[in-house]
Amino acid sequence: MAPPLPVLPGLSVGGLPVQLRRSNRRTVGLRVTAQGLTVYAPERTEEARLRRFVEDKRAWAERHLQQLQQHQPDALPLIDGFALPYLGQALTLRAVPGLRRAQRVGTELYAPPEALSTALEAWYRAEALRLFAPITQHYAVQLNRGRPLTATRITNAAGRWGSCTAAGVVRLHWKLLLAPPEILNYVAAHEIAHLAELNHSPRYWAEVARLVPEYRTAERWLKEHGAALMQPWR
Ligand SMILES: [Zn+2]
Repeated sequence: MAPPLPVLPGLSVGGLPVQLRRSNRRTVGLRVTAQGLTVYAPERTEEARLRRFVEDKRAWAERHLQQLQQHQPDALPLIDGFALPYLGQALTLRAVPGLRRAQRVGTELYAPPEALSTALEAWYRAEALRLFAPITQHYAVQLNRGRPLTATRITNAAGRWGSCTAAGVVRLHWKLLLAPPEILNYVAAHEIAHLAELNHSPRYWAEVARLVPEYRTAERWLKEHGAALMQPWR
């Protein structure tokens, strides 16, 4: 999730950039998800070799990518009565013409049909602003090492749930509010652990495990449901 994923510059498969992850592995590997290709490579393998590797597999990868994308469940249209996911629960969308902004009343969320998705995003972002900072602060206290958490911000970056900068700024995607609370907690802890280790080393994962012992379950959940969560409605 952070630091930003490097890509193989200028290369795309199925219209998507090819991500590159280097580590102390010995062989070059490839993973295809509905979000695109990721090449896993040893630290020192030359970029030209990695490009050839991708080109050799391009036909297969494009076919595979297309299949995966076709199996993505269609986002449902945003209409009155829509069950809006909210931290593992659902709020019923009620389209009320003329409202200036979305408002929650109990388990219903009233929003103007003239600008449904804009009003909903604004509402979720305001909730994120209210809820995310106390969560990151909680994990920063638990972490109790590394650089200080300087700010918690909300992001709308496509395909990325969060990030953490060397300056101690943590960003979390507002759509995490559409997931169960343990998923939001995991992503917050994931980014906070980067305050101690700005990498994905074993030492880093040990910090994550200390903050969220059941983090693997959350990782699996995100792999399975993350893409649908990024496209919750249309
Ligand atoms: Zn990360």
